[in-house]
Amino acid sequence: MDIQEVITNHTNSIIKGHFSSPDIICLCCHQKPKFFKLHESRKRQFRMIVENIVKTTFSFLLRWRCLLCNTTFTEYPPFAAPHKRFVLTDINRLGQKYLSSDNLSYRGVVKENGDDIGYPDSNDLCEQFISHSTVWRFMIYLADRSQIKRQPFIMAKTVPLISSFKYRSNKRKTLLYKAFKENILFNMQADKMFFPDLETDST
Ligand SMILES: [Zn+2]
Repeated sequence: MDIQEVITNHTNSIIKGHFSSPDIICLCCHQKPKFFKLHESRKRQFRMIVENIVKTTFSFLLRWRCLLCNTTFTEYPPFAAPHKRFVLTDINRLGQKYLSSDNLSYRGVVKENGDDIGYPDSNDLCEQFISHSTVWRFMIYLADRSQIKRQPFIMAKTVPLISSFKYRSNKRKTLLYKAFKENILFNMQADKMFFPDLETDST
């Protein structure tokens, strides 16, 4: 199933009401209410890379309210990344492409078969392309996510060596290893994530 089908299936299941209250402990009060109350279904735009084109689609995210402490949470399906327009699967795919290749630069990652990955306009012409700095921002994002405590806690396998060509400072080296660890965790579980709704997503 490709990412477009995954998102379409998710959208259809929300529209048809085929979903249920999450079976988790509240991230705020650390208790388990009888159920979480559906607070809102929020429309959100997603970007996904199909070959060398960035496609845009819409889907929904569910927000749940804890009956015990009243905190709202946003439920992110496995393809969605909090605060990022690109789908998590592409963030991880490009991240892995960069981290697991000894010689590939950020500029090399944003090419598919030698062609830049572009944002098509209304005529399907690409004049804007994914910047190599986007891949660096993906690394920061993945490294940040590696700090999240997961339930249940899953140990990452040993992170493979990253080519020293990719860093000069210890700070950047540490960040890349964190990003790689997160990438491995994503590939292991691809789970749903829950985040307290403390700020509004950029949509
Ligand atoms: Zn709570």
